[in-house]
Amino acid sequence: MLNILKNAGTLAILMLFSLTSCGEGDQIRGIAFHNATLVDAVNGVRASQTVVFDGDRITFVGPTTNAPAAARSIDATGQFLIPGLWDMHVHLTYDDRFTEIMPESFLRYGVTSVRDTGGLLEKLLPVVERMRSLDTLAPRVYFSGPLLDGEFVVYDGSSVPEIGTQNLTAEQATANVVKLRNAGASFIKIYEMVSPAVFDALVAAARDNDMPIAAHVPLALTASDAGPRVGTMEHLRNVELNCASNWEELLATRRQLLKNGDALAGHPLRASLHKLQRLPAIAALDEQQCAAVLSRLTGTIQVPTAGLNTIALNPMFERHDWNDALAHMPDAVQEDWQDVPDWLPVDKSERDTTFARYTMRMIGRMHAAGVPIGAGTDTPIAYAIPGYSLLNELEILVKSGLTPLEAIESATIRPAEFLSLQDEMGTIDVGKRADLVLLDANPAEDINNIRRIAMVVAAGNMVPD
Ligand SMILES: [Zn+2]
Repeated sequence: MLNILKNAGTLAILMLFSLTSCGEGDQIRGIAFHNATLVDAVNGVRASQTVVFDGDRITFVGPTTNAPAAARSIDATGQFLIPGLWDMHVHLTYDDRFTEIMPESFLRYGVTSVRDTGGLLEKLLPVVERMRSLDTLAPRVYFSGPLLDGEFVVYDGSSVPEIGTQNLTAEQATANVVKLRNAGASFIKIYEMVSPAVFDALVAAARDNDMPIAAHVPLALTASDAGPRVGTMEHLRNVELNCASNWEELLATRRQLLKNGDALAGHPLRASLHKLQRLPAIAALDEQQCAAVLSRLTGTIQVPTAGLNTIALNPMFERHDWNDALAHMPDAVQEDWQDVPDWLPVDKSERDTTFARYTMRMIGRMHAAGVPIGAGTDTPIAYAIPGYSLLNELEILVKSGLTPLEAIESATIRPAEFLSLQDEMGTIDVGKRADLVLLDANPAEDINNIRRIAMVVAAGNMVPD
């Protein structure tokens, strides 16, 4: 369906060429939204504006009264335009049932760019190639390749999908980064089981190869140590361990257990450490210690994956619009996701919400401390429908203390900044890429209005046309 729409876009451009060849005015190009209210995180709210885009570039932004003629005009009176949204944490190849439908699902909900934060190159590269091909209408995609893990790989393909790779030594770590750069990766993803020496090597190699870093805080390190050395931290993972009054003792215990005397596989080893330390650390949170940790993180974007972390408190599958969203998923997924996940009690009152409540408080605390927040979902993990889950994420960020405009910032200019693309994307300005979402209600007033999507423009293509 999307391919046909894209061809319709091409037709519009052909039409435009025939107009100019008739000598009807050389300037008449592009598509215009007239009389819209623009909402973006840098320019704020601008009323009665026209936005013209020509192919994949915005060519005019200004008062409708001054707008140039365009080949096609759309009256957007009473409507709102925001920049195309990003999901900063997706896994396109985590579950084969989703790979095919993900691009269309993202676009349906206004997600025009995604950051794939972990997948094996042999599976991921064909998917990326297809998404980037001219015949496909898909979000822009930036990828890291596999999770760069330590001796004990968490996602090793045994009990969980294989999306991680081992880095035993600094030399191996350096070689892996070079290989990823040569394969076209835009950034690297450092995972939880790396040793401090391998972490150092990965950071140095990323810098040498000009690649930003996304990371889980490695269990052998602390957030205040690892965080300032990476571009984004994911899931708030292991921040609680550093905010605890007894953080030094917790770290020493972890380092001992990471020697893995019981010879566990990576996944159970990591799970055992979280089980041992996460909830006690949350209970032992020390205000001063935490303030000191957060003061080190003001230059690192946090991607808290709030929807994932707070699923016990904010279950997407209990929303009124869940069934409509699920209906777009493949049949096998619809069957699977009919019921509450088996790891969550059906009875709401029996759900442990400690980590969920901690997550929302921590997001608010970070935000107040000047730590930048980024929006990501981990889709398709844990019932996160591609695209739909990003809109849910923004709602939870607002519930955690961000304003609606700041939530929009977390899904537009923040991700662009991570990849140094802020001059290309993230706001509605002349010269920027033509990624836009047209809404029927004001998202700056109520973030839930971001669900009222009338049209999505992805790289200058209109969905639906
Ligand atoms: Zn992930």
